[in-house]
Amino acid sequence: MTDVKGKPCIICVAITGSLPTKENNPAVPITVSEQIESTHEAFEAGASIAHCHVRDDDGKPTSEPERFARLKEGLETHCPGMIVQLSTGGRSGAGKARGGMLPLRPDMASLSVGSNNFPTRVYENPPDLVDWLAAEMLQYGVKPEIEAFDLSHILKAHDMQKKGQLVGTPYVQFVMGVKNAMPADRDVFDYYIRTVERLFGKEAPWCAAGIGPNQIVLNDWAVSSGGHARTGLEDNVRLDRDRLAPSNAALVARVVKLCQKYERPVADWRQARQILGLSLPKAA
Ligand SMILES: [Zn+2]
Repeated sequence: MTDVKGKPCIICVAITGSLPTKENNPAVPITVSEQIESTHEAFEAGASIAHCHVRDDDGKPTSEPERFARLKEGLETHCPGMIVQLSTGGRSGAGKARGGMLPLRPDMASLSVGSNNFPTRVYENPPDLVDWLAAEMLQYGVKPEIEAFDLSHILKAHDMQKKGQLVGTPYVQFVMGVKNAMPADRDVFDYYIRTVERLFGKEAPWCAAGIGPNQIVLNDWAVSSGGHARTGLEDNVRLDRDRLAPSNAALVARVVKLCQKYERPVADWRQARQILGLSLPKAA
């Protein structure tokens, strides 16, 4: 294994997602003001990217640009410097509405480049929609995070880079442990890393997320292998079998501990922006 000591680790907090409810865990932030408060705590705990979905008044997932705008503005005010990443995923079949917030020019947006199964449905990402979302991100200067639910998604990102649909080094996130998609399999994980290094270079940054009890497993694999780590209530609402996570910040704190264990400093927002090739916010 390559030596990862001293290499800054970016922590991304996925605060809400499109599935978890207050019934699953009362700490899941649903309203925009709850989301801002929860993100602020996570930011103070060490997260430098906020991965965001928004909900409507009934708590159901929505892509309403107006909600995203309020959340983005609140995060920029209360978590200055933090990287705001808006989700274009989540709702199957919603088509171009999934990218309706991109004109807000967030720092980043998630981009799924292929389809796969989810626990109870197909996660549809048809080629024409993928092309359109990528073009919108290029137009508005939004850096995509490629959500790799499968090996083919990493190779698709390489193909899109060659065609000029993605500029710079793609930032790939390995997602493992979604029921009916790629499980948390260590050999596959290692092959994902090799594939990213082969296609995008040894220094290409990558991130990993695990769902449910796999969250802490993927956090450990990513931090110990030199990658960046995603945590948060979107992916997992529990600390362990018996305890709910009291907050997004508590899940961030688990990753901070892993960083200490493997002697990696937690990247602050300036370092995170530098690693990802993002500009500094206007106010900084
Ligand atoms: Zn998400």
